Amino acid sequence: MYEVKNIEESNLMENPVIAQMSKYEHEQLLFCNDNATGLKAIIAVHSTVLGPALGGTRMWTYNNEMEALNDVLRLSRGMTYKNAISGLNLGGGKAVIIGDSRTMKSEALFRRFGKFVNSLAGKYITAEDVGISPIDMTWVNMETDHVVGLPGKSGDPSPVTAHGVYMGMKACAKEQFGSDSLAGKKVLVQGVGHVGEYLVNSLSKEGAKVYISDIHEDTLKHVSSTYGAEVVPLNDVYDLDMDIYAPCALGATINDDTLSRLKCSIISGAANNQLANEAVHGRAVMEKGIIYAPDFALNAGGVINCYSEVKSLPSEWALNKANEIYDTILNIVKRSKAENVPAYQIANKMAEERIESIGRVKLPL
Ligand code: NAD
Repeated sequence: MYEVKNIEESNLMENPVIAQMSKYEHEQLLFCNDNATGLKAIIAVHSTVLGPALGGTRMWTYNNEMEALNDVLRLSRGMTYKNAISGLNLGGGKAVIIGDSRTMKSEALFRRFGKFVNSLAGKYITAEDVGISPIDMTWVNMETDHVVGLPGKSGDPSPVTAHGVYMGMKACAKEQFGSDSLAGKKVLVQGVGHVGEYLVNSLSKEGAKVYISDIHEDTLKHVSSTYGAEVVPLNDVYDLDMDIYAPCALGATINDDTLSRLKCSIISGAANNQLANEAVHGRAVMEKGIIYAPDFALNAGGVINCYSEVKSLPSEWALNKANEIYDTILNIVKRSKAENVPAYQIANKMAEERIESIGRVKLPL
């Protein structure tokens, strides 16, 4: 008869994927493969403690499967924290499709992917992320109802994201300058795409002195002529004399090099994963006397907008909920100062506290 041995006795090698999952307590991974359509995807459900795991699907040309796996594990965990700190009844999840979004998309590929999403029976709700457009999600929706951000529904989340970033920036100003007015403050918006442009609009209306940078000349021309913002050459961004640096393009722009140059007293922008190394640069920012608004708490307007679609709530609800980002950020930066603990650590702790306390409420009676 087959003898079941315990792990030590059987001397099995540790499975690296399961080891990765258990390190950050992921609940479930679904590997999706379909040779006919070329679909190779991974769906990661990090946590469903607070509700269904919501997070977008990213399509990217990963160098290999391990890179895709690391990305989906990291991003899905980030969604758990973002949803928790925003007070949403949602867990965290994410999906990645391995491939070139310019050449590999087809109706069949996205419908096949939709079948996989559907097989999770609502445990995971998907949306758009990098490389994905509304039409792709319309195809996903042909095979599953567990998708948001569809055309004609909650729509582009960028205005709500930008509004939340703007409110959180004002909270940082309140703490750093004693007033939340941004009038006359020098603000550099790095990346004036979807979110950046809406942010520039709000800042200009309030009378801030707005500087912008982008890699696309036509984008710069459009934003500078529409809002009267001053263009800063890419190489001069980190040496600019400014009050507030708002990264709205890429992650990891807060690193050893930029920190030795940045002259701002607030960092508050929409980009995900701004700190190149959370532990190192989160502390370094604090020690330089810069107030840092943790990205996942600040840019939650997008997922708030998605949640309004999940719950069939009006768009005003999403904007009002994004207003709460002001209090969340003020609370974080005040606690950071009082406890002399980097802001990102305070934000992580607040998210974990909510998962812990509301998780207990959800236990069966
Ligand atoms: P986007 O692609 O519309 O805009 C990004 C802009 O940054 C583009 O105009 C691009 O040309 C520019 N850019 C790229 N590299 C640059 C560089 N090195 N220097 C200056 N500019 C550069 O993206 P978006 O939707 O506006 O999102 C911006 C950031 O906010 C991303 O990091 C995204 O992950 C994050 N975010 C967006 C949302 C949302 O609702 N769209 C929600 C949460 C987080």
